Amino acid sequence: MKRICVLIASQPPEDPLISAAATDAAKASEHRARAVIENAYDAFIGIDASGAIVDWNSRAESMFGWSRAEVLGVQLSQTIIPLQYREAHERGLKHFLSTGEGPIINRRIEVTAVHHNGREFPVELAVFIVDSANPTFGAFIRDISERKAAEEALLKLSEELQRSNADLQHFAFIAAHDLREPLRTISSFTELLRDQLGRYPDPDVQENVRFISGAAKRMQQLVDGLLAYSRVETRGQEFEFVDCNELVDRVISLLKVSIDEAGATVTRDDLPVVKGDAAQLEQLIANLLNNAIKFRSIIHAPFVHIGVKREDSLWRFSIRDNGIGIETEHAERIFDMFQRLHTQDEYSGTGMGLAICRRIIGRHGGQIWLEAQPDEGSTFHFTILVDETTGRT
Ligand code: ADP
Repeated sequence: MKRICVLIASQPPEDPLISAAATDAAKASEHRARAVIENAYDAFIGIDASGAIVDWNSRAESMFGWSRAEVLGVQLSQTIIPLQYREAHERGLKHFLSTGEGPIINRRIEVTAVHHNGREFPVELAVFIVDSANPTFGAFIRDISERKAAEEALLKLSEELQRSNADLQHFAFIAAHDLREPLRTISSFTELLRDQLGRYPDPDVQENVRFISGAAKRMQQLVDGLLAYSRVETRGQEFEFVDCNELVDRVISLLKVSIDEAGATVTRDDLPVVKGDAAQLEQLIANLLNNAIKFRSIIHAPFVHIGVKREDSLWRFSIRDNGIGIETEHAERIFDMFQRLHTQDEYSGTGMGLAICRRIIGRHGGQIWLEAQPDEGSTFHFTILVDETTGRT
């Protein structure tokens, strides 16, 4: 008490002009604060230490359906807090007042609120202390019904997509796996039939059997392609450090016969170490290199270059050839299953190679795409995450 007297005594005598100016400034400041609260895009609610509502802006009126006049002085727990959370709210308030601890103070939280008409809806809010000497709390509250509905719809869609992907994956595996056996039987019995018909004079019959045999072989190739596609997910190995220089050199030596036969030259940049499934990355490079040689131009000898560029957190690999090229309009669909731009007589194949490549790259979290022009060669690009721990960045 004494100290207070001393303090008061040491204050300079009050100048009535200064004091009036201070009051005006305080009023103007309060007026501005009110304007901000009243025009806020969010609802604003203030409560005192007893939990009674002391502030309620016009957005709160439209969001919760009570007018300011109706709620001022009413306990917050009797208005927008759903029945099941009222007790927890009162307990939380008491706990804060006695200990000063409040897990929700100054934190963005998502809770359920209730409208005057009883409809519950999700809101996002942050509670803050307006005045700690005379405990008053405020919260800006945002209706997040639309965002929540969109999030739920997205989640549902992604669950459905995952389920249908799994179904498709299962179907592809079963179809491919179960079709293999009867196909093998058809193939071997048609071969047998061909041998037995060797002495048969009718060339039509011989040709028909040859057709059956060819079709069975083709179907076997397609089924094998389908099986290889489904195995990218089911038989994938754990990721390990893969030195892409060694990997590319291994693929080149495996394809040596077709490279030499085509008179092709294959060059590469100094490539990084990446983290991935070594066998799948080898299959990816082999498919792309095989295509670069298979779809060569008749004008010049094939030249293929495997390059790499770092783009932020990604390696962008590119496999550039000087072959027949591809029309831009087909740049997307050639990555789909069984999509080919040529007949079997022009170029052999199943149309599964690039679909498998895309699946492998998808499993590695990257993307694959094509840049090409007819007669000007093709460049296939794919990305893989840079792994800083490899030390080769
Ligand atoms: P496949 O090689 O068995 O036909 P892919 O899925 O590997 O199947 O390729 C799909 C199609 O894309 C090929 O049939 C071909 O028309 C085209 N293609 C792929 N790579 C190249 C390339 N390097 N140059 C030109 N066309 C290509």
